[in-house]
Amino acid sequence: MAHIDKAELDPQKTVVVATGNAHKVTEIEAILAPVLSDVRFVALGELGDFPDPVEDGDTFVANALIKARAALEETGLAAVADDSGLVVDALDGEPGIMSARWAGVHGDDARNNEKLMRLMAEVPEEKRTARFHSSVVLVWPDGSYLTGEGNCEGRIGFEPKGTHGFGYDPLFLPDDTPGRTMAELTPEEKNAISHRFHALQELSKRIVETRG
Ligand code: IMP
Repeated sequence: MAHIDKAELDPQKTVVVATGNAHKVTEIEAILAPVLSDVRFVALGELGDFPDPVEDGDTFVANALIKARAALEETGLAAVADDSGLVVDALDGEPGIMSARWAGVHGDDARNNEKLMRLMAEVPEEKRTARFHSSVVLVWPDGSYLTGEGNCEGRIGFEPKGTHGFGYDPLFLPDDTPGRTMAELTPEEKNAISHRFHALQELSKRIVETRG
């Protein structure tokens, strides 16, 4: 990742995007840039190699806040972070905040999806409702912060389909795209309906309300 010298950055006009996922950086910048038009967005990794904070919050928003605050402490700059996951009604909300490491190993999408298929195998169609949730947090250098929350409603499929996206996308059928899993959507189609899109839109609205 390209390195940026912090001395080049105007602390009043920079927001650090606290995620290692390049797609998320692009998506966050695309949605927030119109309401923060004087701001330069930089990925945390462009400023150095920082350890991941321990995400031990009880909620998505608590974990997003942990990530954004860690980036602020490391850089002294405003920071935005998100935390997301899959919430399945028939599993009492699991995997929820455990989504990334549900099957034991952080980020093992294949094993997470196998576990989901196994636990949902006997669940009838009408009880397969679920949603992706995203919480985003923007922390300003003075420590004050704004949040945004978003959902993408859908159902859990019986078998994986599609090759796009990541995580649970092959088993998630969004209500907005009947008959197609999230992994069968183009990135543009996914970005237009995703939980992160809705959370970032809510955050954008709050930025406008508080900045005038
Ligand atoms: P994180 O917020 O990047 O830590 O994501 C947590 C986990 O939730 C990911 O590892 C995925 O398993 C799942 N997840 C979050 N967003 C999505 C999505 O858009 N598609 C599929 N899985 C997702």
